[in-house]
Amino acid sequence: MIDLKDFEYDELIEYLQSIGEKKFRAEQIFSWLHKGAESYGEMTNLSKITREKLEKDTYVSTLKIREKYVSRIDGTVKYLFELPDGNCIESVVMRYHHGLTICISSQVGCRMGCRFCASTIGGLYRSLTAGEILNQVIFAQKDIGERISNIVMMGIGEPLDNFENVVKFLHNVNHEKGLNIGYRHISLSTCGVVPMIYKLAEEKIPITLTISLHAPNDAIRDSIMPVNHKYKIAELLEACREYAGITGRRISFEYSLIHGVNDSMENAKELANLVRDLHSHINLIPVNKVEERNFEKGSGKEIKAFQEKLTSLGINATVRRELGSDISASCGQLRKKVLK
Ligand code: SAH
Repeated sequence: MIDLKDFEYDELIEYLQSIGEKKFRAEQIFSWLHKGAESYGEMTNLSKITREKLEKDTYVSTLKIREKYVSRIDGTVKYLFELPDGNCIESVVMRYHHGLTICISSQVGCRMGCRFCASTIGGLYRSLTAGEILNQVIFAQKDIGERISNIVMMGIGEPLDNFENVVKFLHNVNHEKGLNIGYRHISLSTCGVVPMIYKLAEEKIPITLTISLHAPNDAIRDSIMPVNHKYKIAELLEACREYAGITGRRISFEYSLIHGVNDSMENAKELANLVRDLHSHINLIPVNKVEERNFEKGSGKEIKAFQEKLTSLGINATVRRELGSDISASCGQLRKKVLK
């Protein structure tokens, strides 16, 4: 059975023509699917014959809300979604002054092995299809009843380890007949799968690329991020330069501050020198404690000192505000709890 949300718009037209339907049906169906229709029966402008034809080989995929938490502090909404095969993924909707931002997952689990990360415990189960990635946006928006205007691909999984489906998803979510979310309102975060950064640059999709850097040198990065054994920082930054050159978009870096590992003043200096020529922005994230890991964050004062050091060296750095702290909104934690 085919999930029509796995087709790009042009592929949907082709498919419909192949079953003897007119081209204009694509617009109707695409729009229904992206509005969150849960069956062909809801698509009232399709004839009964068309619906029956579709039901023969295709289905309307949905996501079940298995658990939902709303933060009393800031209104952040966290979903544990259940996929049709029973696997669970997490998505988080955050309220910012510029609108609702959703953080979505790209895989069930992850095989990148970052030492501080909850999502990688247990490894990769499978990648999400393009439709499953999109469904998180569709069904969160439907549940909340307000437009989601921004997307960050910073949930469970490594998006560049699921390249084809992620690109398909990006095309679809941006499509004017669908949710129509602008590329400039989308960011994709990667731990640094270098060849795929070049491949993404070739796609010329002007989203924001965010790099999970987390270390100012290879020795530290090797010790916390296995991907660094394969692609060293210098290669990663070269790919970033290329990406910025081709897309004209600034690169963003994430740097999780882990006490005693990467948060000394010397580390700040090293980091500043590393990214100086990239005109980037650095997002500092006080590391979130994960039960199975013994990483701790520094004090508020130490975190502020790190940021100020970077700023004094001419590097644009902000500390990420923690949202949804009362509902363990950081990804990977809820799925892990349910798996147990
Ligand atoms: N695989 C992608 C997408 C995950 S994004 C990537 O690595 O970028 C989630 C972000 O949160 C990444 O920057 C990740 O390194 C970071 N992260 C994971 N676990 C964390 C933790 N316990 N504390 C702080 N940041 C963490």
